Amino acid sequence: MQDWRFETRAIHSGFEPAEHGGATSVPIYQTAAFAYETAQELAEVFEGRSYGHVYSRISNPTVAAFERRMAALEGGIGAVATASGMAAITTVLLALCGPGEEVVSSPGLFGGTLTLLNRLFRRYGVHTRYVDPLDLPALEAALSERTRLVFVESLGNPGLDVPDLGRIAALASRRRVPVVVDSTLTTPYLSPAREHGASLVVHSSTKYISGSGNSIGGVLVDTGLFDWSAVQNPELQVAAGRVGAEMAFLSLARRLVVQHTGSILSPFNAYLHCLGLETLALRMERHCSNALALAEFLQSHPGVEAVRYPGLKGDRGFEAATRQLGGRYGALLTARLGSRERCFRLIDRLRLASNLANLGDAKTLVIHPASTIYHDCTREEMVRAGVSDDLIRISVGIENPQDIIEDFRQALDGLEEMKR
Ligand SMILES: *Cc1c(COP(=O)(O)O)cnc(C)c1O
Repeated sequence: MQDWRFETRAIHSGFEPAEHGGATSVPIYQTAAFAYETAQELAEVFEGRSYGHVYSRISNPTVAAFERRMAALEGGIGAVATASGMAAITTVLLALCGPGEEVVSSPGLFGGTLTLLNRLFRRYGVHTRYVDPLDLPALEAALSERTRLVFVESLGNPGLDVPDLGRIAALASRRRVPVVVDSTLTTPYLSPAREHGASLVVHSSTKYISGSGNSIGGVLVDTGLFDWSAVQNPELQVAAGRVGAEMAFLSLARRLVVQHTGSILSPFNAYLHCLGLETLALRMERHCSNALALAEFLQSHPGVEAVRYPGLKGDRGFEAATRQLGGRYGALLTARLGSRERCFRLIDRLRLASNLANLGDAKTLVIHPASTIYHDCTREEMVRAGVSDDLIRISVGIENPQDIIEDFRQALDGLEEMKR
């Protein structure tokens, strides 16, 4: 099984039909609890002395199939699936950070993650230091005795920066700090984060993994590279005493955080995400080639002031992305149109692309981030995240590329009578 290539693992890993009455499609175990014949058996499962499911707020066979498949795709030692991408990030922060401790993070993050760190975790005494992840000396200088993790996105949303994960991981591991990579935009298909030294990988599986914009979910994967026994964290030590240092983080994440915050993924959404994974590789190829075609078109259109897409030669992310993402560049791009009014007009004129707050859907999506995803953020946070008032973000779908381009052409051509 370990030898299977990505596409095969995405379809077969982590699930044995023989254990599920021969079902070849992962069954939905739509049940709150699991009955045992004897009191002794249930007690043993509860205490973690034998494997089994007890209650679907802790684990569930459908969710477990999704977790095992994600772990196989990331080359990790295990995974915990959560109700959303935000829940996966929250789980990591709750497991690793306490009052007076610090996160070192790239400033170019998804707006929800910025709000979580700056508004919520700050209230509980967890402080975040933001440093440009491309500036390695600054990153190193930001690490202190209090740093509990380094957080980066493998491809920043929407800044589209590509940090050098290998060098960040090398630097952090010398200081015994785990590196958490949000790989939502790249998926394990474009960016096998373990190969780049990530300690933990988090995903919003709402996006490319589900693939059709049909469900919210998230997952965290432990790559097995980080030595948890090296960390000052009383709860981790307790978990290590119970299950060993290797599985300590996953045990803490599931048995303390997810179980007691009630943030596990639902079985139905786990089913949808397993289904999505089966076609992930095919879809990512098409997402990426469509995005490149649209980026090239937008770059050539006089109504567009600037286009950011790491697949464009000359883009500041091109070289790092070429090295790190296997010659494909994801399917998110941004365009500056000169003013907020022009962005709004363009969005209103698009017929195929939908105006909504999501990405990684089979459908092409567009949004004006400054007035939506970042409306909770300060102007300074927005600027640091690479969001300006004249910027639109496009999540390129897997429709016919010509139809996508023609939609943007008709919308842009109609803007030309407007003064910039
Ligand atoms: C969407 C997104 C999230 C949050 O995921 P949800 O499933 O919406 O909670 C986190 N990180 C990135 C990069 C995202 O795009």
